[in-house]
Amino acid sequence: MIVMKYGGTSVQDDVAILRSIEAISRQRDLQPVIVLSAMAGATNGLLKIGDLAHQGDAEGAKAVSAKLRDHHIAVARRLLTGERLSKAEVFVNDCFCHISNIIQGLFLLGECSPRTKDAIASFGERMSSFIFAETLKERGFPGALVDSREVVKTDKNFTQAVVNQDVSFPLIRERLNPLLAAGQIPVMQGFIGSTADGVTTTIGRGGSDFSASLVGAALGVEDIQIWTDVPGILTADPRIVPKVFKIKAISFAEASELAYFGAKVLHPSTLLPAVERNIPVHVCNSMAIDQEGTFISAERIPSSTPIKSIACKKGITIVNIYSTRMLLAHGFLSRIFEAFEKYRTVVDVVSTSEVNVSLTIDSTGKLDAILAELKAFADVEVETDAAVICVVGDNLRSTPGIAGKIFGAIDNVNVRMISQGASRINVTFLVRGARMEEVVRRLHDEFFASPDPELFEPC
Ligand code: ADP
Ligand code: ASP
Ligand code: MG
Repeated sequence: MIVMKYGGTSVQDDVAILRSIEAISRQRDLQPVIVLSAMAGATNGLLKIGDLAHQGDAEGAKAVSAKLRDHHIAVARRLLTGERLSKAEVFVNDCFCHISNIIQGLFLLGECSPRTKDAIASFGERMSSFIFAETLKERGFPGALVDSREVVKTDKNFTQAVVNQDVSFPLIRERLNPLLAAGQIPVMQGFIGSTADGVTTTIGRGGSDFSASLVGAALGVEDIQIWTDVPGILTADPRIVPKVFKIKAISFAEASELAYFGAKVLHPSTLLPAVERNIPVHVCNSMAIDQEGTFISAERIPSSTPIKSIACKKGITIVNIYSTRMLLAHGFLSRIFEAFEKYRTVVDVVSTSEVNVSLTIDSTGKLDAILAELKAFADVEVETDAAVICVVGDNLRSTPGIAGKIFGAIDNVNVRMISQGASRINVTFLVRGARMEEVVRRLHDEFFASPDPELFEPC
């Protein structure tokens, strides 16, 4: 068994869907389970509809909705005929009927709860998967649509729901195993799930990768394939660095750091279920299905190039905390982290000195409340608009002088916090947001002038 996950651009129109189905047909014998995102732009469009409606712009919301509907119908018409086309049209029109009712409600209410946001956003995956499953059948493959909300059970933390694996894994097996045994190709939605009482939830933006990995772990598949619009995991974000390289193989630990610190190609949680069950993950190019992508596994891959890749993320807030009491007072650190824990705010990078703790967060929704707690026992200073840069590579632990090379390459840049984790496979530091792109490009030039051809391929 394998899981094949297709992202938004891989199902964005008829051409992309047919290419994705071609890749499935080539692995038909491996019992694929398909996990899909919404068509590119659909989730953003749906969330925009919610925003416009509750801000009082019902006409604007209807216009975005009409455009999305037309696109889905047009794609269905290019892929399907007869009964299947009618079914798809009815399904899409039904979805937009619901959406129109929601618009009405939001307009009257003047607010959009996280629960309603999830209800709206879920239509993206529901429509793409319906059209995809019908297209499989149209092409003679036994596609079987599965509603992920029946098997992926989450808590009630709408828009960021946490999947209950103990409940979901048996449900996924019960639902999918019989379909696979009967030779069918299950088609599921990524990103969505439901609460114990059946209310639709989503598991966070970009979450379809994580859905795929959860399904793969539940079934104990041999391979989890993440099909996307780039050749694999690259040496940097291709939107920032023009001449990047594809990495042929990378370890779970390295890829997890990259995903966590901004490499959008993988949702940060994707690898956790795969690591737990030691299932390899492939990142594959749905635009060129013959190419080999990036292979991610537990194995450490030797290379003569000291680093593998550079990740980065903007919009980071640095919180500097100075102890006002005794230096190194017992309990100082735990009180700091309790404040973040209480407001469920994730801390990403931490660095400490004898009198000060600096840490970074990327969600500031609860910052004021956290600051109020911290100020009871510390002086606090906040810096906004920072960017985190994460240089990743197994060789960092064994090659002396890399830190010198990193900071030498950007010697006129004001570097804020610096941190290296215990695994010593990454060096992470903060710079002003406005300088992020330049820093990434300079580091890339420094380390990838002529990378090891055994491991890196020009794109
Ligand atoms: P999908 O819709 O398939 O999930 P995403 O847009 O979420 O695709 O992720 C793929 C995008 O991630 C690429 O188009 C690329 O611009 C971006 N990206 C950022 N960093 C990297 C990286 N290190 N390697 C590959 N892609 C990256
Ligand atoms: N469609 C969702 C999003 O755009 C989930 C995903 O694509 O992974 O965030
Ligand atoms: Mg994605």
